[in-house]
Amino acid sequence: MNVLSVDQATKIYGNKVKVRAVDHLSLSVMEGEFVAIMGPSGSGKSTFLNLISGILPLTSGEIRIGEEDISRLKEEEAARFRRDKLGFVFQDYNLVDTLTIGENIMLPLMFQQKDPGSMRKEAHICAEKLGIDAVFDSRTYEVSGGQAQRAAIARAIIHHPKLLLADEPTGNLDSASAEQVMRMFAALNTEEHVSSIVVTHDPRTASFCGRVVFIRDGKVFHELYREDNQLQF
Ligand code: ADP
Ligand code: ADP
Repeated sequence: MNVLSVDQATKIYGNKVKVRAVDHLSLSVMEGEFVAIMGPSGSGKSTFLNLISGILPLTSGEIRIGEEDISRLKEEEAARFRRDKLGFVFQDYNLVDTLTIGENIMLPLMFQQKDPGSMRKEAHICAEKLGIDAVFDSRTYEVSGGQAQRAAIARAIIHHPKLLLADEPTGNLDSASAEQVMRMFAALNTEEHVSSIVVTHDPRTASFCGRVVFIRDGKVFHELYREDNQLQF
């Protein structure tokens, strides 16, 4: 079963001067896969992520997440789909500074009308999984970058999304914290079968994934698989 099916996706920006940012790109990701997307600056990685999450409309082609054809969702439906079915991790963590780490992790559960006690319990379980339960009641500015990013990952997975999307998740981290964060992604993948797509410039970050998809000029031009021992950077 595919969690993501991209068929001939194309995105053209601009009216007078046209930029073909994503160009007849096709890609399938199976449930439980852990995929890295690499490519030079300007190759269309951010545009591709924004197409997958339904933030940007496609010029042509089709993108399905599970059964849902996200290219056909109205803006409001796409927003609800993102909230309920996807998880996002960004380079700069995007935590809410006025809340504690634990409250940040609980945020996605607020939409599910659960009672505060069970939300807290679920958030603690998630924080424990990511090794940050000790900073549950800390403020975001009191924790390290690696802890902040692990909190962002906890927040991204607490509602069990179909697909976790990460944009340069190690971009602001030193190499030791980056490795720890990628080990967490890998553990979530093997132990909880979370399906993830990680966009990165960093070969070491990509080396934790099961497959690396290389994008150039908005197209897939190469793929490597861990099972064939090809991920030696
Ligand atoms: P990457 O994330 O790989 O750096 P992007 O998706 O940001 O690539 O960009 C792909 C191409 O599309 C680049 O040529 C970029 O300049 C262009 N582009 C990105 N966003 C826009 C936009 N909003 N309007 C016009 N061109 C854009
Ligand atoms: P990234 O670091 O992800 O590659 P960029 O620095 O390329 O991002 O782009 C930053 C923002 O500017 C993005 O939201 C992108 O959509 C937008 N952008 C990039 N290139 C262009 C462009 N040629 N015209 C308009 N917007 C652009």
